[in-house]
Amino acid sequence: RKGTVIITGASSGLGLATAKALAETGEWHVIMACRNFLKADKAAKSVGITKENYSVMHLDLASLESVRQFADTFRRSGRPLDALVCNAAVYLPTAKEPTYTAEGFELSVGTNHLGHFLLARLLLDDLKQSDYPYKRLIIVGSITGNTNTLAGNVPPKANLGDLRGLAGGLNGIQSSAMIDGGDFDGAKAYKDSKVCNMLTMQEFHRRYHEETGITFASLYPGCIATTGLFREHIPLFRLLFPPFQKYITKGYVSEEEAGGRLAQVVSDPSLTKSGVYWSWNKNSESFENQLSKEASDAEKARKLWEVSEKLVGLA
Ligand code: NDP
Repeated sequence: RKGTVIITGASSGLGLATAKALAETGEWHVIMACRNFLKADKAAKSVGITKENYSVMHLDLASLESVRQFADTFRRSGRPLDALVCNAAVYLPTAKEPTYTAEGFELSVGTNHLGHFLLARLLLDDLKQSDYPYKRLIIVGSITGNTNTLAGNVPPKANLGDLRGLAGGLNGIQSSAMIDGGDFDGAKAYKDSKVCNMLTMQEFHRRYHEETGITFASLYPGCIATTGLFREHIPLFRLLFPPFQKYITKGYVSEEEAGGRLAQVVSDPSLTKSGVYWSWNKNSESFENQLSKEASDAEKARKLWEVSEKLVGLA
């Protein structure tokens, strides 16, 4: 049978390119989990994904209620779940003030981490029940959260501190809107959320890999300088960033190539190792990359898991 994969944020950029790459194999039915139904449907058609290979289901990660509804709707569809890709993200580098999710969490961490955390937890049982030979839960990471790299050392650097802001509710009222309790910084909030994504993947691996056989993995697909992720950035940045990445850092990848990489992590029979953070070298070969000290801190991962459980209402 065909596999079923859910991809969040499949309406543009990496998510869309991955949806296309998987749908084209004819071996996957792609569920595009998106906040804007019409945009997602148009996007699928615009890249030529054929009708029988996809469906769009509404998901707004900035609302835990919506995440719960999505899980219910998915279950009622009667489809098995063979792979889940947590890909959607917001990046608000120029925001002066924090904005918030429906439940009042700072928007970048609320969407990129907490929304996905609840989604992945709710759908874990569905993945467990799948009889597909390879079951995978992929959470897209990023180099920017990894302070052991050049890109990760561009300030403001990611730092979750002792999680005091998160534990306080991340709401800018009783607590800071930042995980570490510091002053709001939109670029840092995004990087922090990516560290959370990578820590969450590893904690899933430690808690569930042996028992379930599910492969948990993360990846840095390369710098896809052309996606909508940079839509909130100043115009000069948007103009110069793609050529800078292409010719200076040489970290640039096209959306199509990055989509191929994520599709590989979802479906390649040779990439079944769990607990891995994948990257690609200059020849586009995948390798297991090292995470920064903070992004591989097992104690922090456990604490993040427990605090997040409380915030999303699982504990
Ligand atoms: P895009 O902005 O093109 O895509 C982000 C997607 O997330 C969009 O489909 C967007 O939906 C969706 N989204 C945002 N908020 C929500 C929400 N509340 N509910 C549901 N969906 C939402 O960016 P990219 O494709 O570049 O980013 C995809 C992933 O790749 C992210 O995890 C990012 O961190 C990661 N990444 C990107 C890199 C890059 O260089 N671009 C490098 C490393 C990692 P909508 O279409 O409705 O706006």
